[in-house]
Amino acid sequence: MNARAEAALRAAFRGLPGCATALDLATGKPLAHWRPDLVKSWAAAPGSVLKPLVLATLDPLDAALPCARRLLINGVRLDCTHTPQTAPLNAAEALALSCNSWFAQRAALLDPRKLTAALAGAEFSAPATPEDLQLLALGARGIRVTPAWLARAYLRLLHSATEPIRAGLALAVAEGTAHAARPALGGKTGTSREASWFAGFDRRMLLVVALPGGAGGADAAPLAAKIFEKCAS
Ligand SMILES: [Zn+2]
Repeated sequence: MNARAEAALRAAFRGLPGCATALDLATGKPLAHWRPDLVKSWAAAPGSVLKPLVLATLDPLDAALPCARRLLINGVRLDCTHTPQTAPLNAAEALALSCNSWFAQRAALLDPRKLTAALAGAEFSAPATPEDLQLLALGARGIRVTPAWLARAYLRLLHSATEPIRAGLALAVAEGTAHAARPALGGKTGTSREASWFAGFDRRMLLVVALPGGAGGADAAPLAAKIFEKCAS
């Protein structure tokens, strides 16, 4: 454990619910946990924080697709909330903007076995229909993850990630949905009915923040920024 990271988590979470885990980016060793009981056991729908892991299962990984903005799957409304885009989006842009339309189009053609393999260890229902597969890939229904699982999954992803994933995570922080997490160098937010999430990294640390309620971009990402700032100071 790392005293500076522990102090950063304690200061950031003062008076707040939720939990966080920080791992050494290179070795995967724990640097600090806030509410380690929740880090291990609190399972919630991940929402879009799952998208980088889904992206890694797509073949081909990149594709230029237009955003249709409006999205309704099995009665679940998942319209895009990013600014309207006239040009087709590539994988990195779709990740940075958290484009539900792009990911739903790609998920419909996904090999379910590849996705379920990537989700091993999380709590999820095997998708029975293409719509189930889309909702699973969007982290919206049929899946719950713990912060500890998400941190390990991101660590594996970052150690093997190809360029569009790295570029998308960097772009999400530079000018996308995870902008409020700066000085993080890359990351992704997520918002579900149960939780708001941020998972991302700077040069040294992988950090996962999970809060009950709220929104990833407005709540989890700025909290992560405070932790990165305090650790770097
Ligand atoms: Zn979109």
